[in-house]
Amino acid sequence: MKLANPDLLKFQNYIDGTWRAAARTMAVCDPANGELLGNVADGSAADAETAVTAATAALPEWRRRTAAERAATLKRWYQLIVENSGDLARILTLEQGKPLAEAQGEILYGASFIEWFAEECRRVYGQTIPTHNPAMRLSTIRQPVGVVSCITPWNFPNAMITRKAAPALAAGCTVVIKPAQETPLSALALGQLAHEAGLPKGTINVVTGSDAAGIGRVLTQDPRVAKFTFTGSTAVGKLLMAQCASTVKKMSMELGGNAPFIVFDDADMDTAVKACMATKFRNAGQVCVATNRIYVHQAVHDEFVEKLRTEMAALKIGHGTEAGINMGPMIFRRAVERVWELVQDAVASGANLEIGGEPLPNGENYFAPTLLTGVSDDMRIATEENFGPIAAVQQFTDETDVIRRANATPYGLAAYVMSENIRRANRVVEALEYGMVACNTGVFSTTVAPFGGNKESGLGREGGVEGMAEFYETKYCCFGT
Ligand code: ADP
Repeated sequence: MKLANPDLLKFQNYIDGTWRAAARTMAVCDPANGELLGNVADGSAADAETAVTAATAALPEWRRRTAAERAATLKRWYQLIVENSGDLARILTLEQGKPLAEAQGEILYGASFIEWFAEECRRVYGQTIPTHNPAMRLSTIRQPVGVVSCITPWNFPNAMITRKAAPALAAGCTVVIKPAQETPLSALALGQLAHEAGLPKGTINVVTGSDAAGIGRVLTQDPRVAKFTFTGSTAVGKLLMAQCASTVKKMSMELGGNAPFIVFDDADMDTAVKACMATKFRNAGQVCVATNRIYVHQAVHDEFVEKLRTEMAALKIGHGTEAGINMGPMIFRRAVERVWELVQDAVASGANLEIGGEPLPNGENYFAPTLLTGVSDDMRIATEENFGPIAAVQQFTDETDVIRRANATPYGLAAYVMSENIRRANRVVEALEYGMVACNTGVFSTTVAPFGGNKESGLGREGGVEGMAEFYETKYCCFGT
């Protein structure tokens, strides 16, 4: 891999400020063509324990620093990420598959969390409370929660780390990160830049490894860890929540979704199609807020489908480093097999295959952008998160009914509403049981606003003032006079 700054390519774990080999290594491959990118440390549960020890030792000194001091170090980290964004994007595309322009976007989005939380930590205030008793004085102070452990997924190998580590470090916590096995290089590159920025040894540790369950047990059960934060599937999230129960850890969970995308007959069709494309095909559909169920009003159904089909047919698919590519491969063959199975199930249950429907010959992890119509709510393609480039369209006629259908899922992450009628838009946005609702746009995620889900889509919020609050304990102080 050719990089302007070859120092960013690390194959060992970053623990206690040093690079450490593990007993074994694991292969990291380009999902577009299977090429070996390198062999990276295959860390163990014991390595995770060493990292927790380092984070525990580093905590008192880091916590003691003023917010301004922590902010200055974090801003250096931010600056270095921006300066190295070209290399970081290249590493990300090679190990994850998304087009280079998307990877570049993720790096800057990821960096924005570091800048923003560095600023925000200087404004975390306690309160004085009007007393209930003249002989007492009441106040609150806010203190960092302690050692934070993070498990992150492969779909956003950079930003899911910074979204957790930045507020934690800004608050005065120390962190141990286990990235997904498929995308360790982006995580280790962040570790290198944190090192260069001068984050003290042990404040940030990265443990890569294929034994997710073993490392995960340490990160969710070690009594020295105060908070666990996770992005991944609902099934794994539930398991990890149960593991956290043994030591009553604070938890943040960003889990799966089943996003409805509702197009009313008063929507602007070009806006709706553009938004749908953005939510559906970014990262080949492997996004937790990706549209999963498209509900289109009967009166505009054919027009919407025709425009969507034209846009989908124009997508350029290939290796993410090639110029002009809009969509790369999926992460691994298992993901391809799964979406293929869901498409076949839908067609067997009566859906119409408009375009796509099969893997592509580009490489074993490519799946064609696929448009299905005549989908119904009971099909697996509608009840399960497809996490792939599949647009599954259903029809509706009645507002109340479509809200009911949109809400009839155990998930509650993101929802989309397309309507030019401000009263309707307000009504529907309020009625949707989701943590985030985007109206007349498909792109909404930002560091300044709270990201997170209702129901089985998660606990807590990342980003915004809410994201900062997740890493503090509020201490109530009562003084007798
Ligand atoms: P995805 O569908 O995004 O792969 P997963 O929930 O399987 O979602 O993976 C998200 C993260 O959780 C990855 O870092 C993965 O290694 C980790 N993971 C998967 N299974 C476990 C487990 N049993 N214990 C701890 N971590 C796990």
